[in-house]
Amino acid sequence: ISPQDLLINADIALYEAKRLGRNRVERYSDHLKTRNLIIKRTGDAILKSLADDDFTAYYQPQFDAHTLEINGVEALARWMHPERGIQPPAAFLDIAENLNVVAQIDARVLDHALLQLSRWRAADLGIERVSVNISAQRLFDENLISRLEQLDLIPGSVSFELLESISFDDTSHAVAASIERLRKLGIAIEIDDFGTGYASILSLLKLSPSRLKIDRELVGPVVDNPAQRRLIASIVDIARTFGIGIVAEGVETMEHVTILRDLGCHTLQGYALARPMDAQSLIEFAKQHRIKQDEMLLMRA
Ligand code: C2E
Ligand code: MG
Ligand code: MG
Repeated sequence: ISPQDLLINADIALYEAKRLGRNRVERYSDHLKTRNLIIKRTGDAILKSLADDDFTAYYQPQFDAHTLEINGVEALARWMHPERGIQPPAAFLDIAENLNVVAQIDARVLDHALLQLSRWRAADLGIERVSVNISAQRLFDENLISRLEQLDLIPGSVSFELLESISFDDTSHAVAASIERLRKLGIAIEIDDFGTGYASILSLLKLSPSRLKIDRELVGPVVDNPAQRRLIASIVDIARTFGIGIVAEGVETMEHVTILRDLGCHTLQGYALARPMDAQSLIEFAKQHRIKQDEMLLMRA
């Protein structure tokens, strides 16, 4: 192997050692090289897609636990990969994070979501709220605040979902200040994947979120496991004390729907009720759902 290749390979091992937390030895392997190549290619493709405007959103309805009416929609980032088609966040989020471009993807998703929100209003679908996922990086993006200030949002019509894993304890001042500015603009704050991060419950409550979204890892086992049901009941109890709404995500069966409703969750989101779908499908879905709801009401009357 040429000296030049030797240096390149050594570099690949060096980066792997850094990636795994530094202060360690990593050996070069062909496997490592291939993986690096894939990451590099994917990274280039992500940057190109940002330039080409190839990031969009899918929309997953959320349902009132009691009436099963649609009471909101979560926008989820999707990559329209030129060859591989629609890709979920698992295919790009980590690499986008390393490239520091998640805030840009968030910005695209927000733009798409706001456009759809106005379409839903125009079509009188009764969907008055959309939520988007916000990375920590995006929370401190000056462009975000100035763009939002121009928009003149109806208070409560847009929610930002913050991952519980965003460190609220360490950077609490900066985070709290940012969140306060958002709230002044009428944006509701939700804590995503609640119950899986390490944030203290006190630091979360200090943010006075509008809603907690209970992670699907906690939601999944409620059907078979009474202890898990009590856990959800306790979270509902705490939330109620502080006037915070509860969303259950990962609601996969109708049995989950009944149990979670009876445990006091306000809003349900999951495959049992609807999967994430493209913008046009969401409009069709919402129309059909409304017709079905009306028919059920008529039958009961
Ligand atoms: P999340 O915000 O917790 O979103 C819920 C994820 O669960 C979505 O995956 C959704 O498709 C999936 N899901 C919904 N119902 C069910 C169910 O019943 N069962 C199961 N097993 N899964 C269900 P998706 O779209 O792949 O998104 C994954 C994660 O990527 C999101 O989790 C969120 O953390 C992140 N993400 C998505 N869009 C964005 C974005 O625009 N910006 C940022 N920063 N992160 C995003
Ligand atoms: Mg979310
Ligand atoms: Mg979640």
